[in-house]
Formats: sequence, C-alpha cells, structure tokens
Amino acid sequence: MFRAILIEKAGAGSTARLTELDDAQLPDEDVTVRVAWSTLNYKDALAITGRSPVVRKFPMVPGIDLAGTVEASRAAGFAPGDAVVLNGAGLGETHFGGLAERARVGGEALVKIPAPFDARQAAGIGTAGFTAMLCVLALERHGVTPGSGEVLVTGAAGGVGSVAVALLARRGHAVVASTGRTAEADYLKSLGAARVVDRAELAAPGKPLGPERWAGVVDTVGSTTLANACATTRYGGAVTACGLAGGMDLPATVAPFILRGITLYGIDSVRAPRALRVEAWSRLAAELDPAKLAAITREIGLADSLGAAAGLLAGKVRGRLVVDVRR
Ligand code: NDP
Repeated sequence: MFRAILIEKAGAGSTARLTELDDAQLPDEDVTVRVAWSTLNYKDALAITGRSPVVRKFPMVPGIDLAGTVEASRAAGFAPGDAVVLNGAGLGETHFGGLAERARVGGEALVKIPAPFDARQAAGIGTAGFTAMLCVLALERHGVTPGSGEVLVTGAAGGVGSVAVALLARRGHAVVASTGRTAEADYLKSLGAARVVDRAELAAPGKPLGPERWAGVVDTVGSTTLANACATTRYGGAVTACGLAGGMDLPATVAPFILRGITLYGIDSVRAPRALRVEAWSRLAAELDPAKLAAITREIGLADSLGAAAGLLAGKVRGRLVVDVRR
C-alpha cells in the first residue's frame, strides 16, 4: 500500500482526498518509480479543485511532475536505483501522477536527473521550470540575444515566471518582470529582474500596436496581457505563449504580425518530444543557479497539497511548491 491523493468523480464535479492505494491499482507500464517529491503546478490546482476539466479519466492521482528512484524497469536505459524526473506526458490527466508515493510510467518521457540536481531540486524545477526553459530555447532559436533588448516575463512571481526570470537574467538578458504583486519586487530583482512593472499596465484592452519595447516575451498569462505583449514587441521579435493564468482568450489583431513581423511561439510541455526534454534538462542543469532555485522553492507535505491548491489558483503562491510525498 502507498499514500496518494485521489480525485474521484462526484456528480457533475469531483472530489480530492488523501488515501491509500494498492500497487495493483497502478497502471501496467514499464518503469516503477518510488516517488520522493512532486510539486503543485497551476494545472494540478485546477485538477484538485475541479475548476477545469484537467482530469480526463477517473479515478485519477493528480500531479503532473514526479521525481524519485526507479524500483523496477522493463524500459531500455533505466535500471533500479536511477534518479529520474518526469514532467507532463499525461501524468495527472490520463495517467496516475506524482502526488503519490509510487508511480508506474512509460520510459519515453522519463529523464535521468542531471547533476548537480537531486530529486528535490528536480521536482522544484518541475513542469514550471521545464516550460520556462522551453520558452528560453524558443527565444534563443529565434535569435533573441542579450544584446537584442529587454525581454518581458509575465506572471513573473509564479512558478514558470520565476524560473524564466532567473534563466533569462543568467543568460545576460535585461529582464522586465510583470507582476500583480509589486510587493514581490525585491524577490524578482533577487532572481535577476532588471525592472519590475505592475501587471495592470498590460491587463487592460490596448491598441493593435503600441510602442516597440520587447525583443522577446515569456507569457504565462494569455488573454489581453498576451495581446498587449504582442502589440508592444519590437520589429522581428518573438513572443512565447505558454500559459492562461489570466484567461484562455486572445483578443489580438494581426497588426504586430503583418506590420512588425513578430513571431508567436506556442509552448507545450506535456507532449514535448524526448530529445527536447533531454536538451531542456541539460540546459537547466548548466544554467539554473541552485541558490536561485532554493529561493524560488517552498516545501509542503502530501496532505497540504489539497489545501494549497486554491491559494495557488488565486495567484497567492510565490514561485514553486515542492511536495514531499512521504509526509
Ligand atoms: P502559478 O500559479 O505559479 O503562476 C501564475 C502567475 O500568473 C501568478 O503567480 C500570477 O503572477 C499570475 N496571475 C495569476 N492570475 C492572474 C490573472 N488573473 N491575471 C494576470 N496574471 C495572473 O502557475 P505556473 O507558473 O505553474 O503556470 C503559469 C501558467 O502557465 C498557467 O496558466 C499554467 O497552466 C501554464 N503552464 C503551461 C504549460 C505548458 O506546457 N504550456 C506548463 C506549465 C504551466 P503575478 O502575481 O506575478 O502577477
């Protein structure tokens, strides 16, 4: 038996509780992992509170991230004792996820935790940090360099935002952090932000084109914020869209695309191919300062994840919540 958070269907909605499951309830997959750490992401909070239809199959163990040790493996490249991390790949949506002491998963999306990180740090990075790196890679491939000009990060005090600020600053970019919590300005500057702006500046419906400000953008908010970010991106610049914390709509015009030649990149972590996962994790290992990661991360226990979900959706959680599934 092992402890797990379980989401079950209840009428038109769902309920989530801490319970015990039997190994026999785990799916038949190639790699059995003794999970040590998971995390609470925005998507996990949506699943636990039932606010959005994240869970596609009931009952479901939530948790889109897991980090731990391989116990048994039929997958090539993985052996008992390997320290591994898994992000997305259907965890917590179609496949029992990481908010449990054990998981059985396919080997395709599993990544060996690269030095210098341990399992706790890998979970602390989690889907949020992995996604932040996918955004950074997209900007880099587009040709956005530290000399190109300011890079905007929206939802900066959240999980994806915090890691994106740290990564971009480390690469030498002048990072402008947009946040609704200006009280977190010192935190964001400690991660490397050059300037902090109030998210209200980007939240109201704007004009099709505004002043050319950003060489690149990491947007975790969507909606009018993303539309305004596109409208204020410099000629030839790039915007990466990875989130919807402010809404799923995109009330934009084509003006920034056809008059300024900007590019909008969609970023998905869930179905990211293996080669990209390995590349992103090796870049995280090389470029994410462990001291900054520690400043971004706060630890909670498995049972605490139920109560923490609502606060996370309300935008009250700073950085990343790492979950010790053993307590
Ligand atoms: P967090 O909750 O940690 O961060 C979201 C941040 O967005 C908040 O901290 C807040 O930042 C800001 N925010 C919250 N509500 C609003 C609002 N109504 N209007 C404007 N800003 C708001 O979530 P994550 O960092 O884990 O995820 C961020 C987004 O990215 C989510 O939408 C998530 O679903 C998505 N995501 C997508 C992935 C992908 O594969 N595409 C992977 C991971 C996440 P502040 O207080 O600084 O303003």
